[in-house]
Amino acid sequence: MALLKILEFPDPRLRTVAKPIVKIDDILLKLIDDMLETMYAAPGIGLAATQINVHKRVLVMDVTEEKNSPMSFINPEIEIIDAELGEFSEGCLSVPGFFEIVNRPKSVRVKSLDSNSKEKIQELEGLSAICLQHEVDHLNGKLFVDYISPLKRGLIRKKLQKAQKQRT
Ligand code: ZN
Repeated sequence: MALLKILEFPDPRLRTVAKPIVKIDDILLKLIDDMLETMYAAPGIGLAATQINVHKRVLVMDVTEEKNSPMSFINPEIEIIDAELGEFSEGCLSVPGFFEIVNRPKSVRVKSLDSNSKEKIQELEGLSAICLQHEVDHLNGKLFVDYISPLKRGLIRKKLQKAQKQRT
């Protein structure tokens, strides 16, 4: 397994819309393993392929405290079950150190493929529903900072750009 480099806001590559996966092969399964390892090491509760500069529709998650329930979603499609919005303070491995309140539907149904190319349908609520929506946003080139005010987003951009410059 290998740790992958995570792109950080405002890297324009985070705005790429990911393409559907057409073949589930060993290369993809290895990618999922590496994404899980990278997510756990960060540490984070979710990671989309977009964040590691792979523009394919796959994401991983584990919202448990024990970190023993890895989930992966290939070509996820979300349907909102309960449009009632929940408030959650979101963070992101691509926006390190910042947390902002975002409103999202509380429960969703997600259709995706498993490692045998079989379709699976799951209903998620609470943190897993929020996390899934956040990760699917990544696959569509969207970030949680897009939901906050342009002023706040601009401040976050400036601070991160400064930190990124100091590292290089
Ligand atoms: Zn994120």
